[in-house]
Amino acid sequence: MRLKNNFSIDNKLLTLLYSEPEIEQRTHQLAQKIKSDYGEESPLIIGVLNGVFMFINTFVKAYDDFNIDISFVKYTSYEGTKSSGDVKELIGLGENIKGRSVLLVEDIVDTGLTLKTLLSKLEEFQPKNIKVVSLLLKEEALEEDVKVDYYGFKIPNLFVVGYGMDYNGRWRNIPAIYYFNEVSSER
Ligand code: IMP
Repeated sequence: MRLKNNFSIDNKLLTLLYSEPEIEQRTHQLAQKIKSDYGEESPLIIGVLNGVFMFINTFVKAYDDFNIDISFVKYTSYEGTKSSGDVKELIGLGENIKGRSVLLVEDIVDTGLTLKTLLSKLEEFQPKNIKVVSLLLKEEALEEDVKVDYYGFKIPNLFVVGYGMDYNGRWRNIPAIYYFNEVSSER
C-alpha cells in the first residue's frame, strides 16, 4: 500500500514520522548489531504484546541466528493517549528463564513504567542477564530509571500510531509510524 505523508482518519490528521523502508532498514541494523554483541550465544527473545508484533516480526527475520527462542508476554498500561500509571499483566511468562540470556523486545518506551515492572518480575526468575531493545524511545517522557540497551529511533514526546502501536486499540496495522498533533494537548 502506498501511504501518504499526511492523511485524515476519524477527524485526526496523521503525519508520517517513519516510513516502512526506514523502519526496516533501521531494524536490520539493530538486529546485526545485537547479534554481533551476543556472538555465539542465542538469547531467548521475549516480545511485549500487543504493540511489538510488527517490530518483532521484522526483527527476528533479520536476526541471523535460527537457534533463538521466541516468546511473548502481554502487558497493558495505556488508556487513550496516556499511561494509566497502573501496569497490568494480561499474559505471563511461559518459559523457564533461569540462567538464560533474555532479550526483551518493546515497541516503545515512554514513561518506562511498563519496562520497570516487567524487568523486576523477570529478575525474580534469575535469568543470566536481560537486555532491552525498543523500536522507539521517548527519552523526554522517561520517568523511571531503566536502561534501554538498544533502540531504533529516539522520538520527541508525541503520540504515535502504526507499525503495531495503537490509539484505543486501532491503527496498529498501518505499516508505518505516524503521529497526530490534536491529542498532544490532552497529555
Ligand atoms: P510506558 O510504560 O509509559 O513506558 O509505556 C509503554 C507502553 O505504552 C508501550 O508498550 C505502548 O503500549 C504504550 N505507548 C506509549 N506511548 C505510546 C504511543 O505514543 N503510542 C502508542 N502506544 C504508546
